[in-house]
Amino acid sequence: MLFKNHDPSKRRRKTQTATIGKLKLGNDYPVAMQSMCSTKTENIRETVAQIRRLEALNCDLVRVAVPNLEAARAIAKIKERIKIPLIADVHFDYRLALASLEHGADKIRINPGNIVPNFIFKSPGESSHITRIYLENLKAIIKKAKEKKACIRIGINSGSLEQDLWDKYGSPCPEAMVESALRWLKFFKQQDFYNLVLSVKSSRVLNAIQAYQQIAKKCDLPLHLGVTEAGPLPEGAIKSAVGLGTLLAQGIGDTIRVSLSDKPEMEIITAKEILKSLKLYTKEPDIISCPTCGRTEINLIAMVKKVKKMVKKEGITQNLTIAVMGCTVNALGEAKEADFAIAGGKKQGNIYYKGELFKGNIPEKELVKEFLTLIRSRG
Ligand code: SF4
Repeated sequence: MLFKNHDPSKRRRKTQTATIGKLKLGNDYPVAMQSMCSTKTENIRETVAQIRRLEALNCDLVRVAVPNLEAARAIAKIKERIKIPLIADVHFDYRLALASLEHGADKIRINPGNIVPNFIFKSPGESSHITRIYLENLKAIIKKAKEKKACIRIGINSGSLEQDLWDKYGSPCPEAMVESALRWLKFFKQQDFYNLVLSVKSSRVLNAIQAYQQIAKKCDLPLHLGVTEAGPLPEGAIKSAVGLGTLLAQGIGDTIRVSLSDKPEMEIITAKEILKSLKLYTKEPDIISCPTCGRTEINLIAMVKKVKKMVKKEGITQNLTIAVMGCTVNALGEAKEADFAIAGGKKQGNIYYKGELFKGNIPEKELVKEFLTLIRSRG
């Protein structure tokens, strides 16, 4: 159900607040964009270079893989050279989580189901000796995170669900993921640990949407949204926009990761556009442009590209709406809603400022230049 005013920036789901280094997540804190490095973490030079490129795109936090101790040890050196909080992604081996925390990770992402394999949480008395050892390992991670004031993401994933839930539900359906999340959440609460973020990811968009909608009603933790393994561009961006956009429009979600088979930079560019379309990212102008049709009598596509380039080059960071339209059919309506607008005509065009005609009949060649002069003077 959509919130009444349909503006997700004004009605976010109420949550606890998670602290990740200097970043706060949840409630009315901005929805944070994150990505994951594709470098070998122990290659400090390449990892830092990639993180700096992400920082330049306003990425809020970054995750690195920790498959071995060398990667965990690299965290301290990487952190010295970056500005944003760093998350260690750990699977299976609790010692890698401990080492990551020891070397300064601001947050760790674990799937408790693979740190404590096949643990039947509802019947702890029946759990085997070996399972109890795994459980102690998980407690050790929690203790270390408390000591280091680090955050933990409980990352439930349809691809690595506990066996007993597979047996119960027959598939990693939303209900199974939610049950898994709730059992681990209960365990973390029993350990008196609350600096948590939760995710219930699936590579199937509908499953992910339903799992997040269900868990959003059952707990008040900040949620990390993601459609996992979404694929290459453009498919992955579209799946993520549908999945994450649906949830964000309902006020659900506190940090997002667009998971693409592409450069991490593309994940942040896509995440930013998803947030911008819902008024959840306001550090860049929103550009509206028409698709062109048989009425278009200017080179609109080239003009939009120029405007986009100009906005980037000028470093315009205000939350402006800029409309570039091929003719007056929709342009007058869009111009009223936009801060700055161009309406094309026959090899010429008009420029509007806050819905009012600013200058008319400008030759096509001079349109973008005049437009930029106006934005510079009033932007
Ligand atoms: S704004 Fe005009 S030129 Fe652009 S698509 Fe609409 S009718 Fe066609």
